[in-house]
Amino acid sequence: MIDQINAILPQTQCRQCGYPGCLPYATAIAEGTADINQCPPGGDEGVIELANLLGVSARPLNPNNGAHKPKSVAFIIEQDCIGCVKCIAACPVDAILGAAKFMHTVIASECTGCELCVAPCPVDCIVMQPLVAPYDEASLTKAQKTERQLLAKQRYEARNLRKTREADEKAERERQKRTQLIKLASGKS
Ligand code: SF4
Ligand code: SF4
Ligand code: SF4
Repeated sequence: MIDQINAILPQTQCRQCGYPGCLPYATAIAEGTADINQCPPGGDEGVIELANLLGVSARPLNPNNGAHKPKSVAFIIEQDCIGCVKCIAACPVDAILGAAKFMHTVIASECTGCELCVAPCPVDCIVMQPLVAPYDEASLTKAQKTERQLLAKQRYEARNLRKTREADEKAERERQKRTQLIKLASGKS
């Protein structure tokens, strides 16, 4: 059921639902701890699809979670970028390329329009631009929308796996450092 709910969610990964991504929100819906009307990117159409799947009544989008609006894409004004990497840390689908102290750029085809990179930018050089034909929602077929959702879902999952691996590796390095320090302190090294 979680997968079926998640397949309906738009995979924007914007957290407007109050959960750290579409999958956690899908899980909360399946567990009965979240309502079906908390996803602004999915809009009323998404609420209806969820209601049909779950056999419950549809209801208007909860305004506390935000309003539905046309999809947009992030654009970095590269000459203003100071290479602080804060946007990379914020992007849930790894759609930003760059390195410390180098200008950054958005991979437009992989940006979900979640806007999570905008606020962390200390020099306000990230702007959201509306998607235009043939990339706007009205121009895409259902199959193309599903393909975009799948790509965003895969990139979100890959990023989460990488983050978990990095955290594990860091914990292991710290464990080894502590062990070494204990050995040195006890004169066994
Ligand atoms: S698109 Fe945003 S609001 Fe909708 S479920 Fe995903 S993270 Fe939540
Ligand atoms: S580039 Fe910005 S708007 Fe696009 S997916 Fe990443 S964080 Fe979201
Ligand atoms: S947060 Fe802004 S200044 Fe920092 S790397 Fe990203 S675009 Fe550049």
